[in-house]
Amino acid sequence: MRKDDCIFCKIAAGEIPSSTLYEDEDVRVILDLGPASQGHALILPKDHYDDVCTLDEALAAKILPLAARIGQAMKKGLGCAGFNLVQNNGKAAGQTVFHFHMHVIPRYADGPDMVCWEPGSPSREELAETAAKIREAL
Ligand code: AMP
Ligand code: ZN
Repeated sequence: MRKDDCIFCKIAAGEIPSSTLYEDEDVRVILDLGPASQGHALILPKDHYDDVCTLDEALAAKILPLAARIGQAMKKGLGCAGFNLVQNNGKAAGQTVFHFHMHVIPRYADGPDMVCWEPGSPSREELAETAAKIREAL
């Protein structure tokens, strides 16, 4: 289940060199070449999935505990104070490589703000309307 022109398929298969932190039969974890901070890692499935919507469920269940393990290793090995898990789906959400990947981004005590937004202030009615729209589509 590979896609021929997909760079992350090639990296996950070991055909393109990467700084690999971890590998097993299902995934390869590499350092991002354009890191948000020192140690920024990407969890790549070895099979191709465009995004989280098509990801195999058993694999999905494996990825979150692995991300936690990588994050803990970053705290121990790099001395970061915390970490963000980021996972983009679709161009509008910032996805640039259309092979599912989970970012594990170390956060250092004196580091910059990264994953941030201006909080909105919806009314109770707006929240209820929005929740209903999503609930009805589930
Ligand atoms: P996203 O924007 O969520 O699709 O993330 C894609 C990430 O892949 C970015 O953080 C890039 O820096 C990273 N990236 C792209 N090409 C490579 C590569 N060849 N090796 C390692 N990281 C890469
Ligand atoms: Zn791929």
